[in-house]
Amino acid sequence: MQKAIELSLKGSSEGKGGPFGAVIVKDGKIVGQGHNNVLNSNDPTAHAEIVAIRDACKNLGTFQLSDCELYTSCEPCPMCLGAIYWARPKKVYYANTREDAAEIGFDDAFIYDEIPLPISERKIQMIPLGREEAQKAFKFWVEKQDKTLY
Ligand SMILES: [Zn+2]
Repeated sequence: MQKAIELSLKGSSEGKGGPFGAVIVKDGKIVGQGHNNVLNSNDPTAHAEIVAIRDACKNLGTFQLSDCELYTSCEPCPMCLGAIYWARPKKVYYANTREDAAEIGFDDAFIYDEIPLPISERKIQMIPLGREEAQKAFKFWVEKQDKTLY
């Protein structure tokens, strides 16, 4: 966690993004790390946890972090929470809370509020389009014999 906090200070003091850092550990060793890099990379998805997950997956040559633990300097936002579930680490340690983050201007409560809403009531319009055509790829996937399940 000390390293994750150091990264949160380093990234934000260098102007790379907000004060958030994350580290991924496997068998007691750091296998991935990152800090928020939204401003530096013009990437709204470059949150510390996402950057660290990508780094760990690259270093380990895998798309799942099943035997890993994630240390993040702040409770994950909904996007990172989703990414963490997809990456499947066994445990997440967090330091600052999302209420702490809201107090310094990083309020993700509106996203948590959007998730349970019916699609038609969300602030960003979500419009059904082309389902029949898109089903072709799903049908292909169901019938594909040599697929990797995850
Ligand atoms: Zn996030």
